[in-house]
Amino acid sequence: MQQTLDEILRECQILHGHLCAGQVLGARMAILGCRLIEVEDPRGADRKKLIVWVEIDRCMADAVSAATGVRLGRRSLKYADYGKVAATFFNLDTERAIRIAARDESRLLADKLFPQIENRKERQMRAYTELDDKELFKIEAVEVLYNEMDQPGRPRSRVSCDECGEGINDGREIREAGRILCRPCCCGGYYK
Ligand SMILES: [Zn+2]
Ligand SMILES: [Zn+2]
Repeated sequence: MQQTLDEILRECQILHGHLCAGQVLGARMAILGCRLIEVEDPRGADRKKLIVWVEIDRCMADAVSAATGVRLGRRSLKYADYGKVAATFFNLDTERAIRIAARDESRLLADKLFPQIENRKERQMRAYTELDDKELFKIEAVEVLYNEMDQPGRPRSRVSCDECGEGINDGREIREAGRILCRPCCCGGYYK
């Protein structure tokens, strides 16, 4: 990534609405993730090479999106609802994927290193800015489950649900006993 952490954080603040420990963590994750999979300019020349999975819908996710330019609406940002402060960075050209998870210990480290800072959030922001990548994160190479139906660009397929009649894109339907069903009709969804 060509910008400094400070420059990236300014943009995170604009997108997210405030500067917080989650923005620092997400920005650090994005810088490290892109470096490890050799995506140098995620918002420019390398825009089409990068896919990111975030595992939580909190502050950190906005920072990853602001720093790298990945967006849900472009299919370059994927959301896995695991409730974990973690993200996986995937280079489409090389198929290299690196998962980065925030270490819980870094919170304790923040308290230990900066006891003079009274505000807990400020302690965390300071620690997340200054700690080494290895102190902050667990870093692992992974293989992601990713296929043509997950790719950006126009929808790869479109069918209608035999139950509710709604259209279903990109192979998300379930075929059962000769019927085509959307996930909520087949297995229940988030609404009733
Ligand atoms: Zn926040
Ligand atoms: Zn349906």
